[in-house]
Amino acid sequence: MRDTYLHLALSSLLNNLAISRVAAPCAFSLTGLALLVYSLGNGYWRKLLSIWCRWKEEKKTQQDQLRQLKRFNVGEDCPVFDGLYSFCQTYAGGSVGGAVKLNHGHCDIAVNWAGGLHHAKKCEASGFCYVNDIVLAILELLKVHERVLYVDIDIHHGDGVEEAFYTTDRVMTVSFHKFGDYFPGTGDVRDIGFGSGKYYSLNVPLDDGIDDESYQSLFKPIMGKVMEVFKPGAVVLQCGADSLSGDRLGCFNLSIKGHAECVKYMRSFNVPLLLLGGGGYTIRNVARCWCYETGVALGIELEDKMPQHEYYEYFGPDYTLHVAPSNMENKNSRQILEDIRSKLLDNLSKLQHAPSVQFQERPPDTELPEADEDQEDADSRWDADSDTNDEERKPIPSRVRRENVEPEGKGTDDMKMEERLREVESTFADSTSLKGCNSGSALMDGGQIKVEQGSSNKPFDQPTDINS
Ligand SMILES: [Zn+2]
Repeated sequence: MRDTYLHLALSSLLNNLAISRVAAPCAFSLTGLALLVYSLGNGYWRKLLSIWCRWKEEKKTQQDQLRQLKRFNVGEDCPVFDGLYSFCQTYAGGSVGGAVKLNHGHCDIAVNWAGGLHHAKKCEASGFCYVNDIVLAILELLKVHERVLYVDIDIHHGDGVEEAFYTTDRVMTVSFHKFGDYFPGTGDVRDIGFGSGKYYSLNVPLDDGIDDESYQSLFKPIMGKVMEVFKPGAVVLQCGADSLSGDRLGCFNLSIKGHAECVKYMRSFNVPLLLLGGGGYTIRNVARCWCYETGVALGIELEDKMPQHEYYEYFGPDYTLHVAPSNMENKNSRQILEDIRSKLLDNLSKLQHAPSVQFQERPPDTELPEADEDQEDADSRWDADSDTNDEERKPIPSRVRRENVEPEGKGTDDMKMEERLREVESTFADSTSLKGCNSGSALMDGGQIKVEQGSSNKPFDQPTDINS
């Protein structure tokens, strides 16, 4: 009887396994066969279950990754590519490094043509910008300077930088850009900042085909006034070259000289200047522009005829540094330009004086290692994009020097820095306190710098040449 039930149960199992047509001449042999099939079936289901679990896990991981990519806007305009991490590290490090050099007085002008990725937000990549090196550099400059001016001559609105400093009066942002059905869609003339930052964001919306003369008819009066009222301790100029004539994505009609005139003008104020790159999609003209502007920064007028070099053939048929602008229509009428200029000058007139800051704490400098690559052991370099496990990597030396730890021996840089800061301190000694500088972990000589409104910087009424 028991065998009969077993027979029936096994037959049903075999049916389920779709092999029940196997003839079973007797209960004994059928039991043996069924046990064999059962054990095979059991293994099969287990295998199937593990495949399903793995598939489910992979799907979850994929969904998590997609969610992360979407959350941080990585994808279409901001693709993931090999070497992305070191790309970001290099261009952002260059800008922060430039700011450190300026803070230490090692140079008057620092240049990082790889930087200027002005669209990146705190939590979001945008417009091929992953990390906003400009914001990082400005934060570095703010450790020493009360006020920093940001100027953006890329054809696109400098939205990421504006957003970062929209509510503070310690950074003024000025962006000259194409406005109206154009990426990123922000930068209306009415966007002026918020709260303490009201009137410290300036937007100059422009239309297609603007030429050198029209551009400078706005740039010089506006920037002259900004320098006069804001009195920045340092200037960051984003020199996006997509505002040049003939750019693949741009629609302005600036010559290289017209573009570089902005560099020349900002340089003339003799204020520490950080020059950054930015957009630019007709590559040979980007190279021409930043080459010429490097000359402007150095005070050298470069010859138009290009010397022989590795990439000479890219610059044919003329092989010259300058290219003539096109004959495209300038849609910026005199009246429109006049309206924009008077509106912005009116906003600037509402700023009575340059805001000042009480430095309660001075954040530590970001210290950039200056390793000699020739001397460095290539094997010990850390490749940020390699697949090496974290544990296998050599420890990275700390790049931030805590200034509240008593140094063993002060280098020349530290002494220069302290001298500089003491000068600042004595300048502002008897003044009233206003606003706090809020981050960092080190006290500056254990004291505070108190600042009087509008008393801290030299006037900029008369631009002077940096060499004079
Ligand atoms: Zn751009």
